[in-house]
Amino acid sequence: QKAQIGVTGLATMGRNLARNLARRGHTVAVHNRTAARTKALVEEFGHEGTFVPAETAEEFVAALERPRRLVVMVKAGAATDAVIDEFAPLLEPGDMIVDGGNAHFADTRRREAALRERGVHFVGAGISGGEEGALNGPSIMPGGPAESYEALGPLLESIAANVDGVPCVTHIGPDGAGHFVKMVHNGIEYADMQLIAESYDLLRHAAGLSPAEIAEVFRTWNTGRLESYLIEITAEVLAHTDAATGEPFVDVVLDRAEQKGTGRWTVQTALDLGVPVGGIAEAVFARSVSGHADLREAARDLPGPAREATKDAAFADAVERALYASKIVAYAQGFHQIQAASAEYGWDVDLGAVATIWRGGCIIRARFLDRIRAAYEADPRTVTLLTDGYFAEALAEAQDAWRGVVATAARLGIPTPGFSSALAYYDSLRAERLPAALTQGQRDFFGAHTYRRVDREGAFHTLWSDGRREVEA
Ligand code: NDP
Repeated sequence: QKAQIGVTGLATMGRNLARNLARRGHTVAVHNRTAARTKALVEEFGHEGTFVPAETAEEFVAALERPRRLVVMVKAGAATDAVIDEFAPLLEPGDMIVDGGNAHFADTRRREAALRERGVHFVGAGISGGEEGALNGPSIMPGGPAESYEALGPLLESIAANVDGVPCVTHIGPDGAGHFVKMVHNGIEYADMQLIAESYDLLRHAAGLSPAEIAEVFRTWNTGRLESYLIEITAEVLAHTDAATGEPFVDVVLDRAEQKGTGRWTVQTALDLGVPVGGIAEAVFARSVSGHADLREAARDLPGPAREATKDAAFADAVERALYASKIVAYAQGFHQIQAASAEYGWDVDLGAVATIWRGGCIIRARFLDRIRAAYEADPRTVTLLTDGYFAEALAEAQDAWRGVVATAARLGIPTPGFSSALAYYDSLRAERLPAALTQGQRDFFGAHTYRRVDREGAFHTLWSDGRREVEA
């Protein structure tokens, strides 16, 4: 019996994905560079379904029915290229390689173009949900040629998470679109986590609540409009007590946040596209600041205000509003970035469909995403989510509390780069006039960069050192 699909790369993610496929009744060929991993998988989990273990690349390819569907779950980067180079010569036109790793979308575009020449479909598929998701139902973001989805889609739909009967997978768009969308998912995840961290910091140091009390606040929030996986696990982490010391777990963890790089890629790509994603950038930089022991040590004794806690019962409610408003901004920025890339690369990404497949399986899964789906369904040409009826109303309702929370943070010296930058973005977009006019004046002064006028068409330059006469540029 031939296998419907094969997985090569059987570390945490690949092994769980293979098990998920087998549990859904598919025959799965399994392969790994180091054969011991393949053997271990079949020994430990062989009873869960039908696995066809292969020791060599040739055996692996021969085990697959046509068109061959070969999923690569190896370390992103050079390893992916090595695996493609090994398997591509063994494949025939119409076969497909699915890269489920966290590849950079530019690499995916390059690989897709190279394999297209051989007639092999290359599908860069973002997979979110970590090892638990891979086993029980991830959110899957496959790109590549649309026709590849005909042979691949049903298999992915059978293993993906499912919300209200809708599987959390859809064809995102050509070449690198899937990995791009996965990257922005991670960027939004960074922003969401940072906003939650700031909320915790404010509840701890402005409201004077203990971690256990804050866990309760998050539990309550998780029954409302903020209901999400990230809020749920935040309550769990805050409620946890360290066994060794009896202290709150959050107090014994070193306060240095690490990162693997997809957040950084999101910001780098946003800079290249010219898309303002301040909320995501601040989240990446906040992790960076936390990791700079040298900077923090050098600056530790700089003066700040006394932090006396307010014990104001309404404060937690204000933080909830600030968090919700800032979260809307972060998601609006991420979706704007996908929209911009879609236009740049001709992907024609359906933003409502992206929101739909993020409702389950992935780290940012939340009820909230249904609102984003509804916004794009109501108007697919939505320029920014901030002006969608529901979100505009939520922002209007939150803004007083949001401003109050940012002001309190500034007054008490509690860093809130996420809340502050989200509010600045909101105010920048709604401003009738921005000081950018002055920036243009300065640029014209020192570099003759010219400017446009509000009252006439054309580009102008003022002869700053020659009587300040204005000339047409
Ligand atoms: P790792 O990223 O740790 O990669 C280990 C696997 O890659 C092993 O199977 C290893 O084979 C194989 N490998 C490494 N180098 C080569 C090479 N040169 N040739 C062939 N095989 C090679 O595994 P994970 O399961 O953690 O992740 C797999 C992919 O999924 C990565 O791209 C990761 O970014 C992505 N991902 C991971 C998530 C997670 O939560 N961990 C979530 C979502 C995506 P060997 O056993 O022989 O060393």
